[in-house]
Amino acid sequence: MANPELSKANSQWNLGRPIANGELRQQTLMIVDDYQSNLHAMDALFKSEYKVVLQNNAKQAIDYAIQEEVDLILLDVDMPEMNGYEACAALKSNTLTAHIPIIFVTAADSPDDEEKGLLLGAVDYVVKPLNLSILRKRVRNQMESIHYRKKLEFLSCVDGLTGASNRRQLDTMLLQHYASTIRYGNCLALLMIDIDNFKLYNDTYGHIKGDQCLQQVAEAIMSVRRRETDIVGRYGGEEFAVVLPDTDVEGGLVVANKLLHRIRELKIEHKGMSTNKIVTVSIGLAVFEAKHCNHQETSLEDFVNQADKQLYVAKHNGKNGVSHATIKTVIPPKSLG
Ligand code: GH3
Ligand code: MG
Ligand code: MG
Repeated sequence: MANPELSKANSQWNLGRPIANGELRQQTLMIVDDYQSNLHAMDALFKSEYKVVLQNNAKQAIDYAIQEEVDLILLDVDMPEMNGYEACAALKSNTLTAHIPIIFVTAADSPDDEEKGLLLGAVDYVVKPLNLSILRKRVRNQMESIHYRKKLEFLSCVDGLTGASNRRQLDTMLLQHYASTIRYGNCLALLMIDIDNFKLYNDTYGHIKGDQCLQQVAEAIMSVRRRETDIVGRYGGEEFAVVLPDTDVEGGLVVANKLLHRIRELKIEHKGMSTNKIVTVSIGLAVFEAKHCNHQETSLEDFVNQADKQLYVAKHNGKNGVSHATIKTVIPPKSLG
């Protein structure tokens, strides 16, 4: 069973990637109001600028925000079943939705109402009847700061040279997937990829060409990703790591062999190589199988060390190949939450 928190975290990460011009995808504005006419008026106001999601029921709105990417919520207060204050409290107490800014849009116009809304965590409070022009500007201000916050978040997770996840992001995601694998009794595959004789490449062609080679190799590795949840990171120098959740040894080997092939296909000239005169990589594959039986637990460190060890074996076996090992880890039943 997949962990919904990780799926959402990963898909957010993927959706948040800038496209070629460095901009983020279109922003999503969710409007929650039980009056259809209010929804239509606000839809007309915002649909040319944002992806607008209309909800006439607070519970459904919360479900939507848990599943999908929402940047900003306009929330009515007076609604049957669940009112706006209750909905705001529920959204703020859920780790999947707590980060989404909320603007109350309401007829409740006393200072006490406004204070209550702001204390619940709303970023703004707009009173009906609406001045549409002012509402549009308030929403635009919020969307602008959301845009820059996301851009900064993105930049803090990415390796500047290659566009792969940086080491910090890789470590964070690996730890989360490792914990999830134990919790759900799944498999987790980790590929450690190292460019063969790369020092010699730099010595032959210079560091600028070396950087370009790293970029091409990273792009090729990212192009082999099969699922949104797969993570490609720069582990350091000319080493990359690929984390493949829910993947067994057969699946890991398919990806590793595809990768070896894809990088050879790049046909990047490397005169210093004695055999095929092109850039190649070596891969160490470790697969972690969490099974619910009585035994010892394996640490994340052991798992990463195993991938490193297999990389060393692949190098020792002549490079341009993959070596693999499986850790059949066993979780004491009491540690399963
Ligand atoms: P092996 O086949 O055993 O992996 O040999 P190698 O030469 O690839 O390995 P070694 O660890 O001796 O050298 C790695 C080289 O990677 C050394 C360094 O110059 C280069 N390198 C690391 N980071 C960068 C980078 O950001 N840009 C460039 N151009 N080179 C880098
Ligand atoms: Mg190396
Ligand atoms: Mg190397």
